[in-house]
Amino acid sequence: MELDNIECVSSSDGMDEDEIHQHHHSEFSSTKHRNGANNNNNILGPTAIAPATSVHELLECPVCTNSMYPPIHQCHNGHTLCSTCKTRVHNRCPTCRQELGDIRCLALEKVAESLELPCKYYSLGCPEIFPYYSKLKHETVCNFRPYSCPYAGSECSVVGDISFLVTHLRDDHKVDMHTGCTFNHRYVKSNPREVENATWMLTVFHCFGQYFCLHFEAFQLGMAPVYMAFLRFMGDENEARNYSYSLEVGGNGRKLIWEGTPRSVRDSHRKVRDSHDGLIIQRNMALFFSGGDRKELKLRVTGRIWKEQQNPDAGVCIPNLCS
Ligand SMILES: [Zn+2]
Ligand SMILES: [Zn+2]
Ligand SMILES: [Zn+2]
Ligand SMILES: [Zn+2]
Repeated sequence: MELDNIECVSSSDGMDEDEIHQHHHSEFSSTKHRNGANNNNNILGPTAIAPATSVHELLECPVCTNSMYPPIHQCHNGHTLCSTCKTRVHNRCPTCRQELGDIRCLALEKVAESLELPCKYYSLGCPEIFPYYSKLKHETVCNFRPYSCPYAGSECSVVGDISFLVTHLRDDHKVDMHTGCTFNHRYVKSNPREVENATWMLTVFHCFGQYFCLHFEAFQLGMAPVYMAFLRFMGDENEARNYSYSLEVGGNGRKLIWEGTPRSVRDSHRKVRDSHDGLIIQRNMALFFSGGDRKELKLRVTGRIWKEQQNPDAGVCIPNLCS
């Protein structure tokens, strides 16, 4: 296949780097309404007095001052504290020093559950507001939650949005950056017997206004040493489904072809690898492709990324994940 002839529709990078501005409003400023002595038009009856303590203050743990969520505990005298602090205070109420016991404060728990709270990624743009438990559930799948660094084989804890991570990969991990939707890579390793140093290579591709991570690595699959190449999409799963890719490797008149859908970088590198969702080359075959005296690995991997026709009915299909 002549890859150079494939037309690459490359749109300009549409990523905005708008700064996110965080606005804080005081939500709980209370105003006391005083009725004038001559005001006889008061249809509300007795003077409305704002409560001395807001609900949020009630839910503040007196020990650590964090918000309390169920289970909320209290002592025999009614002093409350959060479950984290309860494990730290050696069964003594921090407020009155009495024995703490094991009493839940169900009333306050109900109040806590009824509160509507913003998603914790609101400063990253998420506008959602939820009751407490739905909020926790939402935050695990929120589209605004930051991505983890996709670099494999290191314990990199950097998180951020895609444009931040692309810069991070280039500057901190010295990852190769390519523009275009076709690639032709040669992977060379002088001692192919060593599979232990698993991670070999990550290359980032920029096409269709998106970023893709091409991973190539060696690992032990059961007893067999293998090489594997696969693509991850730098974005969410639902967008990854709009793209497909192919990988080809061969030599000596043989060829292996893989065609697949890139996985989202939300799925860890290890998860994708362990589901075998990519081009897997047995070492014997890899050495055969390399030619020569089987002492050196020389693999030429070509590939292409393309955009699929939109199909709103397309289901999610990920192999080997449910076993
Ligand atoms: Zn606490
Ligand atoms: Zn107490
Ligand atoms: Zn959210
Ligand atoms: Zn990193």
